[in-house]
Amino acid sequence: MAGAWSVVRCPACRNCHGTRGQPRQCPHCGQSLPSTTPIITTVETSAQLRIEVALANTPEELRSELRKKLESMDEPLIASSSSSPRAIFKAITKVVGDDMILNRSDVQSILDNHESEQSVDNLLEQMELDGTLVRQQDGTWLLLE
Ligand SMILES: [Zn+2]
Repeated sequence: MAGAWSVVRCPACRNCHGTRGQPRQCPHCGQSLPSTTPIITTVETSAQLRIEVALANTPEELRSELRKKLESMDEPLIASSSSSPRAIFKAITKVVGDDMILNRSDVQSILDNHESEQSVDNLLEQMELDGTLVRQQDGTWLLLE
């Protein structure tokens, strides 16, 4: 059975990213991806996806080192301050459903719950810049990784 997530490599900029279902648009260069875009690997969870995307974007000789690091990192950091970017990101990955769609109001309530001073717009913009989110035409956001 194929995994829920696919890691694809953009033919234009050679960067890898995760996608659910058909490849759509490269979050790195904005290129529209053809349905024939090669799939590098498939995984079952967004946590695995983050690791596989990071690995795919790393030169081959550094991958096994990085994999060890990423796989051992996933839990211990959660204990840090509840309003840390990591905690907020975790909450965001929980609030998006299977369709990975994020609404502005979801983000607002997450920030409120974490008693974060950060504004929704700042957070969304930051996540958009680092390739985590893509702004959609209907005003919602698509979580990529
Ligand atoms: Zn690209």
